[in-house]
Amino acid sequence: MFDFTLTDKQKMFQEMTREFSRSMVRPIALEADRTGKYPDDLLITLHQAQAGQGRDIRDSGVTANTSENAPDAEEKRKRQTNMLLAILTEELSWGDPCAVLNIPGPGLGGPPVQFMGTPEQRERFFAPFKNMSKPLFGAYALTEPGAGSDSKAIRTSCRKDGDHYIINGTKCFITNGNKALWNVVFATVDPKLGRDGFRVFVIEKGTPGFLEGKVEKKMGLRASETAELVFEDCLVHESCLLGGEKHYETKEGFKGAMKTFDSTRPLVAAMAVGIARAAFEIARDWVKENYTLSRPIERYRTLSDRLSKLDREIHAARMLTWRACWLADEGIPNSKEASMCKVYAAQVAQRATEEAVQIMGPYGVLKNHFVEKLFRDQKVYDIFEGTGQVQRIVISRRIYESIGG
Ligand SMILES: Cc1cc2nc3c(=O)[nH]c(=O)nc-3n(C[C@H](O)[C@H](O)[C@H](O)COP(=O)(O)OP(=O)(O)OC[C@H]3O[C@@H](n4cnc5c(N)ncnc54)[C@H](O)[C@@H]3O)c2cc1C
Repeated sequence: MFDFTLTDKQKMFQEMTREFSRSMVRPIALEADRTGKYPDDLLITLHQAQAGQGRDIRDSGVTANTSENAPDAEEKRKRQTNMLLAILTEELSWGDPCAVLNIPGPGLGGPPVQFMGTPEQRERFFAPFKNMSKPLFGAYALTEPGAGSDSKAIRTSCRKDGDHYIINGTKCFITNGNKALWNVVFATVDPKLGRDGFRVFVIEKGTPGFLEGKVEKKMGLRASETAELVFEDCLVHESCLLGGEKHYETKEGFKGAMKTFDSTRPLVAAMAVGIARAAFEIARDWVKENYTLSRPIERYRTLSDRLSKLDREIHAARMLTWRACWLADEGIPNSKEASMCKVYAAQVAQRATEEAVQIMGPYGVLKNHFVEKLFRDQKVYDIFEGTGQVQRIVISRRIYESIGG
């Protein structure tokens, strides 16, 4: 039985984060888009807001929905960690989606360390994020030129040499990859083995042979670093192999990668909902201020119809997102729902920003208008963490699994 009426605690949290986003995040969003920078104290405050609402420092994604080793699953269920994170993420993304991607912490690298790491590894790699005085980041590096959707095609190699591994290869499009303290890096012992050959390392900044690559210039999400990482005979101690060699005897390497996506896709969806809502509200206010009195009533009706359609779609995207989060909070596998909300919310963000720009006519494309930034920012939500096409494949696979096909 689920009921998405927010509890008093959730409502209070929503109101608090909404006000914070309105007063602290939105006002600097266009400047951050130009400079690529946020004030350190704002980022630390965002980190504290996230950590304070049930997100344990050890899992920067949402609760492990299939993890046996999550020590406090019951505690998190009671706290509704995932729901609170979805609320926080939507509200902050409304202010500026890029700010969400800049929240300090282990980032996408958190879940694999939590799911696959030994207790010593969890302690070692999460320790720097406790009581941060300046923004610190972790990152997740799976994608390579030629391997992202088709993750089994990775070519970054690892070879054991005494008590070290030698890593060679290139990763691309890695969020916060260059500035991270460490990256969770997927490599293979033998590309012919596909996912069975995966090994997952935590590679720290400054490790010999780990070189910073180029930082991409993007259409949107410009204040979020998207970097290339290069490994040239990079020497990584065996203590950095997540879970140790034994872990990979049971094909856990690839499962670790997938668990990350199941737990973070609902948050990507929540970001897309935040973008859609922001665009919708801008369009709604524009219509109210510019059309009601000065334009022919018929035209106003058509616009209202378009706005009401968007309103319905945003509501539906939020409900799909909250359902995926609710399942995660209950410890119920949510892979299909995570893909459903991700694919749908990304499309809604696309439609909402396009409609908002269209409704505003020439004003919508002006550089100093927030809606122009949203229009550029939204596109990547249908690309990263698995493209829309890939989400559809995941969903259809689950449909047939459910009927034994
Ligand atoms: C801003 C940004 C941040 C990112 N951050 C990270 C990060 O932190 N870590 C990380 O590892 N990666 C990251 N990525 C990479 C991203 O996750 C991948 O680029 C994305 O998953 C697409 O994979 P690909 O690069 O292999 O593209 P491709 O799969 O080659 O995509 C090209 C097109 O082919 C389509 N396609 C692919 N397979 C199929 C199929 N089977 N059926 C139908 N169509 C298909 C895709 O949908 C897409 O339209 C980021 C990317 C961006 C743009």
